Amino acid sequence: MPGDAEGREGALRDLVALHCEVDEGVARLEERHAGRLQCGRGCSSCCVDEITVFAVEAERIRRSYGDLLAEGSPHAPGACAFLDAAGSCRVYAARPYVCRSQGLPLRWLEEMGEEEGAEIVERRDICPLNIESLPPSVLREEDCWQIGPIELRLGEIEERFSHGRLRRLGLRTLFGRGA
Ligand code: SF4
Ligand code: SF4
Repeated sequence: MPGDAEGREGALRDLVALHCEVDEGVARLEERHAGRLQCGRGCSSCCVDEITVFAVEAERIRRSYGDLLAEGSPHAPGACAFLDAAGSCRVYAARPYVCRSQGLPLRWLEEMGEEEGAEIVERRDICPLNIESLPPSVLREEDCWQIGPIELRLGEIEERFSHGRLRRLGLRTLFGRGA
């Protein structure tokens, strides 16, 4: 149905714009934390095998790296299928949101307890390799990546792409499906 196709294309365009916005926000935080993040090419223990992404993010990878998916081989099990032998990402330009903010100090709010009298608790986390140089517990709110708002918008884009559903796919399952 043409309407469906247009809706999916619109969702993909919005995803690309959202990824760009995330990159800008990440770049600002990285600048603020310059010299204290260990992240870099070849540092890849965060690239685990179990990552799943929304169907719309999988589609972005498929369209950008169709040849790799059709003819390339996934990394051996135990690490992300898209890692190469040198520990670099083979789909870097189209990588999903979760990989774009990886390494930054993260902050989110969690509701604890029953509906009535539920308490909002703040949580923070960071990659163990960055915790010494950038302990998240002592940072100001604005020095952390806020988990929640982008996830909400990503979910809305996925619902438009997948007709009201939130479909998730394992990154490894994209190999062999082609463009
Ligand atoms: S998609 Fe790229 S950045 Fe994300 S986990 Fe896989 S190799 Fe790492
Ligand atoms: S998040 Fe951790 S493992 Fe991943 S690149 Fe940064 S320092 Fe390395």
